[in-house]
Amino acid sequence: MAGGDAHIFTLHRIVPNPHYNTEITPAQLESILYYCVKNNYQIVTIPQLLEMVQRGVNLNKVVAFTFDDGYQSVYKVAYPIFKKYHAPFTLLLYVKAIEEKVPGYLTWKQIKELQKNGIAIGIHSYTHPVIPHLSPARIQQDMWKAKEVMAKHLPQFFQIFAYPYDYSTDWSDRIIAPYFPVILHGSFTPINKYSPPTKWGRYEYDGNFPYFLWVLKENYLPVRLSRFQNKTNKKWYWKGQIVGKFKPPKVKVRIQKGVRRPIILFNRWVKVDENGTFYLPFSRPLRGSIVVVKYRNYYWRERF
Ligand SMILES: [Zn+2]
Repeated sequence: MAGGDAHIFTLHRIVPNPHYNTEITPAQLESILYYCVKNNYQIVTIPQLLEMVQRGVNLNKVVAFTFDDGYQSVYKVAYPIFKKYHAPFTLLLYVKAIEEKVPGYLTWKQIKELQKNGIAIGIHSYTHPVIPHLSPARIQQDMWKAKEVMAKHLPQFFQIFAYPYDYSTDWSDRIIAPYFPVILHGSFTPINKYSPPTKWGRYEYDGNFPYFLWVLKENYLPVRLSRFQNKTNKKWYWKGQIVGKFKPPKVKVRIQKGVRRPIILFNRWVKVDENGTFYLPFSRPLRGSIVVVKYRNYYWRERF
């Protein structure tokens, strides 16, 4: 039951007076880095985390910080603070805004300097669309354009993709996966060796320090869901399989539609057998749903 899971945090802008929950103050950023360094957490980039997972390294006390979009405050405010703690981060660019020199965004010159100093650079789309609202062809077009422009400026960028607005679906993952071996989701899910890198979750950090400490205690519950038909009554069900070594005796399963005012479709405890299998008396397709499976501080969260 030991921990051993890594956590990825999402950040955007660092400002003196935050107005949105995607903004935090320099002091709030400093307090989490200070905590990590004081308590012997290893702060890594996403490519380093991928390498650790592939090498089977223990992920206990490993954290990664990511910045979306590419605002000036990353270079002017966050970078000096990370430097002070000798910690790297990962920057995921809204490529079109950088390319078109939109005020408030980083310049390619600044990005190159960050890259030279150990900051990993990935992609946050070209046009910053709500990806699941696009057709498969338009999604591919956006991916190609983002990669083409990135390759022109930064030949060594990493093949990492973070969803704009953290709005992802299972079907759009399947379109993006051939282009990006690592896909970051706003699914609030820890990372361990069982987490598929195309399903890695992140936690939005809004400056709430107790929440940050709480997140560090969460573990990943590796669940695979599949639909199956009961041979006798011909009904369809969802079957869950817990693939890790740790098999909880039961799990709480919640299936919901929507985030702000969710419609709860299913919410109950289900028994898990000794092989880690559980069955949901729920037959509807999951497309458009969010599924949370938990036991104590073990979580699996995914958007379909
Ligand atoms: Zn964004």
